[in-house]
Amino acid sequence: MELTHLFSPLAIGNLTLQNRIAMLPMGTSLAEADGNPSDALIDYYAARSWGGAGLVIVEITMAHVTSRAPHTLGLYDDAFIPRWSKLAAAVHEGGAKIFPQLAHQGRQTRSKLTGYPLVAASAIACPWMREMPRELTKDGIAELVEGFGQAARRAQEAGCDGVEIHGAHGYLVCNFMSPLTNKRTDEYGATLSGRMRFPLEIVAAVKEKCGSDFPLSFRFSIDELLPGGIVPQEAAVMALLLADGGADIISLSRANYGSFQWLIPPYGTPMALNAEFAGRLKQTLKVPILVGHRIPDPLVAEQVLRAGQADLIGMGRALLADPDLPRKASEGRLDEIIPCIGCNQGCVGRLMEQRLTASCLVNPTAGREREMPLIPAKLRKKVLVAGGGVAGMECARVAALRGHEVTLCEKSERLGGQFYLAAIPPLKQEFSKAVRYLSEGMPRAGVRVELNRAVTPQVVAERKPDVVVVATGSIPLIPPGIAGTDKSIVTTALELLAGKAAFAGPVVVVGGGLVGCEVAEYLSERGIGDITVLEMLPEAARDMTPRWNRMLLLERLSAYGVKVVTSATVREILDDGVVFTAEGAEQSIRGVGRVVLAAGATALDELSSAISNLVAEIHVIGDARQVRKAIDAIEEGAVLGRKI
Ligand code: SF4
Repeated sequence: MELTHLFSPLAIGNLTLQNRIAMLPMGTSLAEADGNPSDALIDYYAARSWGGAGLVIVEITMAHVTSRAPHTLGLYDDAFIPRWSKLAAAVHEGGAKIFPQLAHQGRQTRSKLTGYPLVAASAIACPWMREMPRELTKDGIAELVEGFGQAARRAQEAGCDGVEIHGAHGYLVCNFMSPLTNKRTDEYGATLSGRMRFPLEIVAAVKEKCGSDFPLSFRFSIDELLPGGIVPQEAAVMALLLADGGADIISLSRANYGSFQWLIPPYGTPMALNAEFAGRLKQTLKVPILVGHRIPDPLVAEQVLRAGQADLIGMGRALLADPDLPRKASEGRLDEIIPCIGCNQGCVGRLMEQRLTASCLVNPTAGREREMPLIPAKLRKKVLVAGGGVAGMECARVAALRGHEVTLCEKSERLGGQFYLAAIPPLKQEFSKAVRYLSEGMPRAGVRVELNRAVTPQVVAERKPDVVVVATGSIPLIPPGIAGTDKSIVTTALELLAGKAAFAGPVVVVGGGLVGCEVAEYLSERGIGDITVLEMLPEAARDMTPRWNRMLLLERLSAYGVKVVTSATVREILDDGVVFTAEGAEQSIRGVGRVVLAAGATALDELSSAISNLVAEIHVIGDARQVRKAIDAIEEGAVLGRKI
């Protein structure tokens, strides 16, 4: 399909975007502690502009000091203008236009972060932050409206091309718009027009400070997916009011903190979630509609535009995964796009659960553009990579792109290692895109791949490489404290997912981490109706990040009727069952057809010590070094590939 619609320009008043791809505002925590754009943040957005996006909407930016937070962008003081000028110039240099997303977090933050009492439309605590906000007075509202206007004025002075108002996701503007959280009886509540007064005053303030031809995008949740919250029927009216009030773009999102699993929907959820609503809205709305939410694929984006459902396509995670997606798509190089697989591990999990800066499972350079450039190697080396999992492939790819002569040997008949199997459980087929991208990237990068070839000391002695990278992965852990693991009913999760073990119910899964829970779902989908998961920890799938991915998985297991027993210690596997202790008592399950061990993995490195006297430079990476997640393995490969 020709991507003619996606790569046609769009005029918004006097502003023309070079194409229909807008980078959505996703938090990175790359800002300086004081809220200024850091060099890393500027590099990060500049890379997305050079990659070909038409519009870069910069992440959440505080419009008023009462919502400040460390490492979160601010525009609540003129002192921010110089660094924002640098950011705007860097984005312009790449060809894109730039809007900051102006926001106030309202009750969805903590006063110990802001240094100010929390405020909201009504004094109702956010169930997830659990801190009571103050109801804003009319003077307080007026001060914040002025704050948004002043922040937009600063953005304009810094050279930005417009602004976006964050009216989504339960933050303060959304908090006023929502019947769930706005219980005021004055002119800022009570009715739909009352709830819309605060956002409309903000739109008017921006226009008054910056001029009517300074574009304003208004982003809001068309469905909060919470009882009593905003619903699409009401959202359609809101969009019309906002456009009449001066908004130049209506940007559609959904959900808030209480329905977070739909705010950044993970793998397995439908693509282009908001497009159908947008299509209906477009019949009445006179301003362009920006639609995002799971549109990682340029072909899907083109279809949405061709169907007349939207004017601009918002991409967030897709551009974290590959800043060059627009350029590659426009050049017809779709196969070369690094695919976002919807895992939410680097972009959301690292940011919100590990309190790190945003990253990406498939693109470890996201947010580290300056730190991780591809610099040609000074000395061309002969590199032998043992193991074709994700760590080995990423290391091989990067090293080859830098000019090394790289051979990758994989002992099995295919590349991908355990990540290949990670794509087998239900709803996870998108994971296979990452394996395909890496596998197909081998010849493109100039890596010579040999399948069905284990690297042994003899192979190393014959080939005489300068460098050996041991990326031989891990093997399933057979828990030593459990008797009977050698019984014929026992198999491992990996054998099962690889199709190497037959199964019949009832099934007991020993180990209720991510893998064990996914095996239970996999078996449920295949009609096994009696499954028990025994987990040692007090919570199942605890190793799964982010937590809303975990919530969705556990909800699905519950719907299938899978029994999950936590704080359970398995003692023995019998010929037809399992003995375990839970709730202080010994219990057993008998009549079992299959016991699946999902008790973790153990590093597999039989090579590095055996070749220590054969080669000068040996590196051990990925699970072979220490069993961790794929995101760590790929990152380790990416870092080493740049060091060799
Ligand atoms: Fe996409 Fe996962 Fe990367 Fe996030 S971490 S951008 S979901 S691939």
